[in-house]
Amino acid sequence: MITELFADEDFQKKLDWMDDFVRSEILPLETIDLDWQGLLQAVAPLKEEVKAQGLWATHLSRELGGQGYGQVKLGLMHEILGKSLYAPLTFGNQAPDSGNSEILAEMGTPEQKDRWLRPLLAGQAYSAFALTELDNAGSDPTGLTTTAVRDGDDWIINGHKWFISNASIADFFIVVAVTDPDAPSHGRTSQFIVPADSAGLRIIRDIPSLDHGASEKNLYGGHSEVVFDGVRVPAHAILGGVGEGFAIAQKRLGPGRIHHCMRWIGQAQRAFDMLCERATYRWAHGSVLGDKQTVRAWIADSAAEIQAARLMTLHAAWVIDQQGVRAARKDIALIKFYGASVLHNVIDRAIQVHGSLGYSDDLPLAWMYKAARAARMYDGPDEVHRETVARLILRDYQPPLDGIPTEHVPTRRQAAQQRFAHLLEASSH
Ligand SMILES: Cc1cc2nc3c(=O)[nH]c(=O)nc-3n(C[C@H](O)[C@H](O)[C@H](O)COP(=O)(O)OP(=O)(O)OC[C@H]3O[C@@H](n4cnc5c(N)ncnc54)[C@H](O)[C@@H]3O)c2cc1C
Repeated sequence: MITELFADEDFQKKLDWMDDFVRSEILPLETIDLDWQGLLQAVAPLKEEVKAQGLWATHLSRELGGQGYGQVKLGLMHEILGKSLYAPLTFGNQAPDSGNSEILAEMGTPEQKDRWLRPLLAGQAYSAFALTELDNAGSDPTGLTTTAVRDGDDWIINGHKWFISNASIADFFIVVAVTDPDAPSHGRTSQFIVPADSAGLRIIRDIPSLDHGASEKNLYGGHSEVVFDGVRVPAHAILGGVGEGFAIAQKRLGPGRIHHCMRWIGQAQRAFDMLCERATYRWAHGSVLGDKQTVRAWIADSAAEIQAARLMTLHAAWVIDQQGVRAARKDIALIKFYGASVLHNVIDRAIQVHGSLGYSDDLPLAWMYKAARAARMYDGPDEVHRETVARLILRDYQPPLDGIPTEHVPTRRQAAQQRFAHLLEASSH
């Protein structure tokens, strides 16, 4: 097991405890319909157990109040947490709070940490991250139009955000807004901490989507349309410096993508287990499904894809730990689109092998599939990550000086014949 390369005996014990706890205490909760308050009540005693194990909110570095595990170890933990929708919440590192707490810990002033980070880490407050806008391509945040304009000692924020996860249960928002429209594209925006009860902040609706129906409102994991209509915040509500909005967003997304990808591995493995179990007993056309060549190919392909995505993600995490987020840019972009496709493919095959049962809500596959579809969009769509990978790779290549491909055989043959002429001549005598 590759895990052994990274996990010492003590840490392995923690992983084993987590795995057992998620399976026995958290997975059963998924089967019950819970609203936000009900969910908080149900997980409250579980959170205490997690805290007693020293496994609460482990994503921050030691100097910022976390356990200092680094991204590889956190990745291995997220793989376990990814198995269940509610496990990250129970362990205090659910998105978007985990990313928000990271940037608050790194960029926040002592007052901001006291007011926002402390309750966030204690599991007493929840947050949202508001970047995407309905009328602008979220995949290209240089085009944002939400503005924050200085007015005396305050900033006034105006804009229309959309698909903001957990907005309707959040106590505060971290909002990305344009503070200098004339600055170079990556210096136009800043980030602001905005209390959810600010005058002018309106949640228009929780958007019905693939993963939430029209009747489901104020839900953990819901996505809202939010208007900021002349929202006034004090000067000290800015996170980091003016013009640093883009740079902070990049900081937030690097480790967050490792966590997402490892959670997807956990989800994919859960779907894979269902796929394999079904293959052992469902009988059709004279044999169990596991005897059919196509199903056997699905099992082999899924195993290979999960293994590849897992190793790629742990490698990206290792590069972050060794050299920092910037050095891992290509590896992070690779796993973001590859991991999302593996998750999608494995769940899709698991649904197919279960037929109508797989499509029904009598198995968790249907909601897993809906969530997996979104993975190809949020934190940057597949196409943008492919673009990043190709751009970074192409930097290491140049056109051949003479316009002839470096590997062109006739050209290489001619050069080799000249170079080895004396040997060739000698061998012909
Ligand atoms: C479940 C879910 C949760 C989300 N949560 C949040 C949140 O909490 N906060 C927040 O701010 N946002 C959130 N989002 C929004 C998300 O970040 C955006 O959907 C994403 O960035 C894409 O932006 P967009 O939807 O505006 O699509 P667009 O930017 O309009 O892109 C649409 C499509 O265009 C194509 N495309 C874009 N660029 C390129 C390119 N360079 N080359 C080729 N094709 C390209 C891609 O296929 C892409 O899917 C969430 C989205 C989802 C689905």
